[in-house]
Amino acid sequence: MGSSEQLHVGILSSPGLGHIIPVIVLGSHLATHHNVSVTVFVITSGSSLAEKELLKSANKSKLIDTVEIPAVDISNLIDANTKMVTQLCVLVRESLPVVKSVIFAKKHILDALIVDLFCTEALPIAKEFGLPNYIYIPTNAWFTASTVYCQVLDKEIEGQYVDQDEPLKIPGCKPVRPEDVVDPMLERNDQQYSEYLRVLGIGFCLSDGILMNTWEDAEPGSLKALRENETLKAIVKSTVYPIGPLSRQIIDGNDDRNFILKWLDEQTPESVLYVSFGSGGTLSSKQLTELAFGLELSQQKFVWIVRPPSEVGADKSFFTTGKEGDDTPEYLPEGFLTRTQDFGLVVQMWADQVRILSHPSVGGFLSHCGWNSSIESITNNVPMIAWPLYAEQRQNATILTEELGVAVRPKVLPTKKVVEREEIEKLVRTVMQYKEGKELRENVKKLKMSAEKAPSVGGSSYNSMCEVLKDIEKRIHAWLQEKHV
Ligand code: UDP
Repeated sequence: MGSSEQLHVGILSSPGLGHIIPVIVLGSHLATHHNVSVTVFVITSGSSLAEKELLKSANKSKLIDTVEIPAVDISNLIDANTKMVTQLCVLVRESLPVVKSVIFAKKHILDALIVDLFCTEALPIAKEFGLPNYIYIPTNAWFTASTVYCQVLDKEIEGQYVDQDEPLKIPGCKPVRPEDVVDPMLERNDQQYSEYLRVLGIGFCLSDGILMNTWEDAEPGSLKALRENETLKAIVKSTVYPIGPLSRQIIDGNDDRNFILKWLDEQTPESVLYVSFGSGGTLSSKQLTELAFGLELSQQKFVWIVRPPSEVGADKSFFTTGKEGDDTPEYLPEGFLTRTQDFGLVVQMWADQVRILSHPSVGGFLSHCGWNSSIESITNNVPMIAWPLYAEQRQNATILTEELGVAVRPKVLPTKKVVEREEIEKLVRTVMQYKEGKELRENVKKLKMSAEKAPSVGGSSYNSMCEVLKDIEKRIHAWLQEKHV
């Protein structure tokens, strides 16, 4: 355990950019706003160049230390049909011996360990080394509540969740519509459901505290339920800490995609729709075609981050997305690039999203509703078209549209049915042109103010983070007393 005045916290991240980015953001926030020394341990997937680049730039910032845990070979434990959550859980599980040895090597400087949502099986390592231990859920309280309550639903509900006639009741929270359940709940017979139930549902309840990337004004109901509802409290057991919204800052330096910013510089304020499906989202070829025609019909300016289509799951790029791929995207409709060249910019695979969203020319975001993307949109005053694809994104889309009023969404679920070009055109015009878009913009402006205030000094999330640090100190003190040190 560390002995200096300054606390030193370790944070363990599961693989995938969508997991590593929020952990690095949390680490940097602890270092800059709470004077905590931070080491981030990253279990890598081994297949993503972008993961390596991200770690390099995090190291360059000198705010945090990073330790890369090389990918283990799990090829004999999975096959082509293995779902994303299973892959993640297996990868983390197989990495545990190495995780244990790297944490052991740093044990003398660490005061606490925070593990991300897919790393709960590493909690016993922290306990063995006497480290106060916490879970970081880089998403919202409603997801947290429904995930822990899934252990009860599992006993009470027969058949598939998606076949239920009524929404699933979560004590004290907004019920979850059967079609909105997280991906691993879609198919109860699949291994990823049992992994989700055990590693997340039960795993979330095994630490000294749960940190979530949300804030009081965004989710008063779900946070109250996690704190006060007797049924939920009895399951969760530990304290919940809303410490967000934490979001990436613009990183200075040469971006090889500066041409996007130059293009944006030439456009008028709030005139451009940004279209992107996060680090892993992919569309079917039919949907990709409809989206292309929808954008074209709308005649609104756009920047679209495109990826080759996939017919076998909307999360297919999760481990592989990087900056690769600079050939002409042949999968787009014939002539699309020529017909839209005066008002659209197509970029392959990846771009620095925060830079784009913070550009004054951007006025709308067609997004897969990953929680990081949602927060980045809110904190940059950008209303959204909610296009959920996988993970907990359908729940996020429901929060954005029904609770926060900062997004509109298609009538059909994009993962169930193809959204037709005419509807896409209408959605784009709604956000970019129509009165309804103005209302969304007003709502997002108000929300941005509370989103900025919460993690700043004196704000509710800032205070919540101070509580976490006090809890660490209290636990260290108790541990030292027990050991008579
Ligand atoms: N991101 C980016 N450029 C891209 C796609 C994604 O910078 O082309 C970043 C985005 O800013 C966000 C993260 O990757 O910080 C994606 O996280 P999110 O929770 O939105 O979705 P996930 O990728 O986990 O589904």
